[in-house]
Amino acid sequence: MKNIFDRANFVEKTLSKIYPEIHSPLQFSDPFRLLIAVILSAQCTDGRVNQVTKELFPRASTPEDISKMSINELESIIRPCGLFRNKAKAIKLLGEMLISRFNGKVPNSLEELKSLPGVGHKTASVVYSQAFGGYAFPVDTHIHRLAQRWGLSSGKNVAQTEADLRSLFDKTQWHDMHIRMILFGREFCKARGHDVVKCQICSKFREIIITH
Ligand code: SF4
Repeated sequence: MKNIFDRANFVEKTLSKIYPEIHSPLQFSDPFRLLIAVILSAQCTDGRVNQVTKELFPRASTPEDISKMSINELESIIRPCGLFRNKAKAIKLLGEMLISRFNGKVPNSLEELKSLPGVGHKTASVVYSQAFGGYAFPVDTHIHRLAQRWGLSSGKNVAQTEADLRSLFDKTQWHDMHIRMILFGREFCKARGHDVVKCQICSKFREIIITH
């Protein structure tokens, strides 16, 4: 399958079959909770984040609650997520800024999201896409790796890969593709133990796969 659009189409169809129902790997019920969960997920598994937010959100689930919580208390709750000192500072500052600049609400534009403390392009894209239904294609290292392996991008970094994937898929597919690629990467596309011949995707792409 040498044509890149054929490959993209095949990947989209195959992932839709494997994961007909999708939902965010992070548990959340409003944009603020998702924003906190995504910040906590840096260098941490989603499973652990979900455990931590189960403890955090009953105690603090709004910018007001978080801004009133002491740094020590916040740190002790989010400690299992790692980088807890920086994350606690960013989350508290975030709560304060949402109150002072955005009336206690998470803004629903990508640019405003990116202006918040601790919120980079990927975090803003996840919240914009998953909480607000905006058109964004967040690319993490897993999606970057898969796009390379499937010959969908030769981007040297996540920004280039994101641009390539956005041009290959219709914007109405970006949200679902982003989640499905994460799910497939975690379930099948690990560094070890995969079988190129049996793989539902790479077995069709063997002529263009260079490294596994
Ligand atoms: S063969 Fe391996 S690298 Fe290729 S998609 Fe399947 S699991 Fe991933």
